[in-house]
Amino acid sequence: MTRRGNPTVRAAGIVVLVVTALLGSAYLLGRSLVPDQPQRQATGVNTNAEGPYYADQPTGDGPSGSPTASASASPTEAGQDGTGRDSTGGQLFGAHTSTGTPRLALTFDDGPDPRYTPQVLAMLREFDVKATFCVVGENAQAHPDLIQAIVDGGHSLCNHSWHHDVTLGNRSADVIRADLLRTNEAIRAAVPDAPIVWYRQPGGAWTYPVVSVAQQLGMTPLHWSVDPSDWEVPGATKIAATVVSQAEPGSVVLLHDAGGNRQGTVDALRRILPDLTARFELEALPTDPT
Ligand SMILES: [Zn+2]
Repeated sequence: MTRRGNPTVRAAGIVVLVVTALLGSAYLLGRSLVPDQPQRQATGVNTNAEGPYYADQPTGDGPSGSPTASASASPTEAGQDGTGRDSTGGQLFGAHTSTGTPRLALTFDDGPDPRYTPQVLAMLREFDVKATFCVVGENAQAHPDLIQAIVDGGHSLCNHSWHHDVTLGNRSADVIRADLLRTNEAIRAAVPDAPIVWYRQPGGAWTYPVVSVAQQLGMTPLHWSVDPSDWEVPGATKIAATVVSQAEPGSVVLLHDAGGNRQGTVDALRRILPDLTARFELEALPTDPT
């Protein structure tokens, strides 16, 4: 029995090992095939069990290794829209980089996020400042109360795609259109009559098709002109210093209220808002651009 038993046990063990290996491969393959996550592989930014971690830096110089890579604990984005170092080589295809007036606009991307969006809203309220929130569809769907709070605060909304796909602009017009419409539907599920007249492409990775589709859907492409790279978590002091020193009439300032640890951005606002409100008129981007 032992002479026959041992090979059987050994064979059974090998079968278990092979099955385990195959299951593991299938799992990894499945993960690699999940759509809208190309940046995570490209940049080495890890996702986590609690939610996606968006990478707005399509060229791969993202925040891998930075504290943001593991800080995300909710469906937020990371890497963010920073600096215009995008896969198009920086072409904007006509996306706005200015308010077009002397007024300055603060924009908050990638939310809403229950940890930071309420703090940002409270800070804006304290300084009587209206801003613009470029929200991600799946986050809007997850936090309709925060979409309502944004609108209630007198701020304006901007579509920032469903899942923060920085490669969305390379997809077909039909795919782009469906993504943007799905995002608007999630926003309007929270606030049925919410005006959504701005679109910001994740990563600033503009393409002609994504600009065209956004315009066809009644949204004006919105880029930015001041970027403190807050997604890199440089600290409140640096974030504030960059914004304060670079702000000028007409500036569109890029900040993030989601996508990782954004406490630095929230804290920076306490320095940014007194300075900017003393020097400029701040506005929520108009919901009826003409
Ligand atoms: Zn973003």
